[in-house]
Amino acid sequence: MIDFSLSEEERAVRDTIRQFIQQEVMPLEPQVLRNERSGLPPLEPGQLKELQEKAKQGGWWGINTPEEYGGIALGPVMSAIVAMETGRTFVPFRFGGTADNILYAGTEEQKQQYLVPTINGERRSCFAITEPGAGSDARNIRTRAVKDGDDWVISGEKTFITNGNEADFVMVFAVVPDAGITCFLVDRDMGWKSEPIPTMGEWGPASLVFEDVRVPASSMLGEPGKGFELAMQWIRQGRYLIPARAIGSAERLLQMAIDYAKIRHSMGHPIADYQAIQWQIADSEVDIESTKWLTLYAAWRVQEGLDGRHASSIAKLDGAVMANKVVDRVMQIHGGMGYTKELPVERWYRELRLLRIYEGTDEIQRRTIARNLLKGHVRLGGIGE
Ligand SMILES: Cc1cc2nc3c(=O)[nH]c(=O)nc-3n(C[C@H](O)[C@H](O)[C@H](O)COP(=O)(O)OP(=O)(O)OC[C@H]3O[C@@H](n4cnc5c(N)ncnc54)[C@H](O)[C@@H]3O)c2cc1C
Repeated sequence: MIDFSLSEEERAVRDTIRQFIQQEVMPLEPQVLRNERSGLPPLEPGQLKELQEKAKQGGWWGINTPEEYGGIALGPVMSAIVAMETGRTFVPFRFGGTADNILYAGTEEQKQQYLVPTINGERRSCFAITEPGAGSDARNIRTRAVKDGDDWVISGEKTFITNGNEADFVMVFAVVPDAGITCFLVDRDMGWKSEPIPTMGEWGPASLVFEDVRVPASSMLGEPGKGFELAMQWIRQGRYLIPARAIGSAERLLQMAIDYAKIRHSMGHPIADYQAIQWQIADSEVDIESTKWLTLYAAWRVQEGLDGRHASSIAKLDGAVMANKVVDRVMQIHGGMGYTKELPVERWYRELRLLRIYEGTDEIQRRTIARNLLKGHVRLGGIGE
C-alpha cells in the first residue's frame, strides 16, 4: 500500500525545525541583506556559532552524522525534510555537526585529524574536483600527484571551490600516474593558495593553486585510482538535498507573491483577482508539489538501501528548473518592486540560478537520465520497484 503521509515523528521534526527557523533565523534576514549590500560578511563573527549552539541545546546537532560521532543520524527522508525547512531562508545557516561523507572513508588517524574536528566545527573543509579545463567532464582533470620518496607532490589548479577561501584543509582530487584519480587531504599550511572568484551570488567560491605542494603518504584518502568513485558516491548520495532546499525557497517565495497579490491594486482590483496572476500562482504550486514528491521519493530510495541515482538525478533536474521558474514568476507578480533591492526577491533570483549549474548541470542530469534509459540501467516506468 502506498502511504503519502509523513509519520508523526517526521511531522514533529518538521514543525520543530520550522519554528526554529522562523523564530531564530528569519529575524536575521534584514541584517544579512544590509551586510551583503555593504560588502560585509552576511553574519557577524560568532553569530552562526551562536545559532548552532542554540540548535544544539535543542538536540539538533549532526542531522546526517552517525550517532557514534555525536550526531542524530536522522536518515535521508528526514534530512530532506530538514533541508526543505532550512531552504526557507537565505540566511546562511546550517545545523552544525556534519562533515563531508567521504571523510568517513578515512583511516582512524585521518578521522581523528579531519573528520572529528570538522564535525565539532573546529576545522573547515572544501571539496575540490573542478578545474578550469574540466567541469562536467570531471574525469578529465589535469592536477597531478607524483610520488617523491615517501611523499606526494601535487601540482595543478582547481576552480569554483565552495568554501575554498575559508577552509583550512581541502579534499583535492589529482591524477596519480598509472593509477588514476586519487583523493588527498591537504592542510592549507602545506602550501596551497586560494583566490576568491566574484559571482552573481553572494557566497563566492575560490580558485585553488597547488604549486609542487608536498604532502606525506598518510594524506591519501582511500586507495590510489579510487578517488573518482569516492567523489561521485558522495555527490550522488546527497543530491536529493539540493531540490529539497529549493522546495523550501520556492514555497517561501510563492507565499510572498500570494501575500503581495492580495494587497497590490491595479485597475480597481487586487491583482490576485486577475487570471494572469492566478495562473502563475497555480503553475508554481504544481511545480513545487511535483518536485516535493520526486525529492521525497529519491530520499526514500536511498533510505531503503535501493539505488537512488536515477531518482536523485530526476529530482535534482526538476528542482533546479522548478525553483528558477517559480522565482521568475514571483518577481513578475511583484512588478518593479520585485526588481528592486528593497525586497529579497532579486537576491533569491541570483542565488537559485546556481542550482541549474552546480553538482551536475541540467544538461548532465538529462544526459544521465537518458543514458540510464537508453542503456537499460533502469526500466521505463520502473517507479516503486
Ligand atoms: C558557485 C559554484 C560553486 C561550486 N562549488 C564546487 C565545489 O565546491 N567543488 C567542485 O569541485 N566544483 C564546484 N563547482 C563547479 C561545478 O560543479 C561546475 O561548474 C559544473 O560541474 C559545470 O562545469 P563547468 O562550469 O566547467 O561547465 P562545463 O562543463 O564547461 O559546461 C558548459 C556547458 O556545456 C554543457 N555540457 C558540458 N558537457 C556536456 C555534455 N556532455 N552534454 C551536454 N551538455 C554538456 C554544460 O551543461 C554547460 O551548459 C561550483 C560551481 C559554482 C558556480
